Amino acid sequence: MPLKIDLHVHTCYSGDSLITPSELIAEAVRKGLDGISITDHDTVAGALKMIRMVRDGNCGRPIIIPGIEVSTRSGHILGINVLEPIPRGLSVEETVERIHDAGGIAIAAHPQTFFKDGVGLSPKILRFGLDAIEVINSSLFPFYPLTRIGRRFAEHYNIPQTAGSDAHIVEAIGLSYTLVKIDDLNADSIIEAIRRGLTTPFGRGIPIQLRIKKALKIK
Ligand SMILES: [Zn+2]
Ligand SMILES: [Zn+2]
Repeated sequence: MPLKIDLHVHTCYSGDSLITPSELIAEAVRKGLDGISITDHDTVAGALKMIRMVRDGNCGRPIIIPGIEVSTRSGHILGINVLEPIPRGLSVEETVERIHDAGGIAIAAHPQTFFKDGVGLSPKILRFGLDAIEVINSSLFPFYPLTRIGRRFAEHYNIPQTAGSDAHIVEAIGLSYTLVKIDDLNADSIIEAIRRGLTTPFGRGIPIQLRIKKALKIK
């Protein structure tokens, strides 16, 4: 059975999210996710706390994959399976290199978006050493055309594809997820499978009422 993993989730450690670690785990269980990657903006503090919580609670699922969403000089990059913070404000190339040195994979977050900070979808991003492209992100707007553009680009250049909810509120967790074709529920196997392209992205956009809720930061 492939694993169902939301590779892009924020917690209250991001500053612009209201999701607490315990709410996140409860919602991930409710949505049937096998794993979540915690990708707070420029910090791994929330991810490290959640790994401890899950370990102390002795629950195997969902697996927590530590991550980070790094604000580079030219857009957001996800570092998946990193336990140390990667500095913000570096070039994309250097950020990708630091993520690799830290044992993680680097994914272009929402590269095709108008309203968020992405690296864009021109062939020049192929030079950055990225391991995958996040072709589905629930916060993309308009969702379907932008998703189509991202998928076409990744297929054309044969780059592994991922999906993540980019949830900043609890209800959005798991709206998008990556199916990873392995049985092995551990972070190293999961990132290796992503690197090899054993992924299928799924998902849908955040409904409009939830977008308003997020904008107003209503709990
Ligand atoms: Zn972002
Ligand atoms: Zn994000």
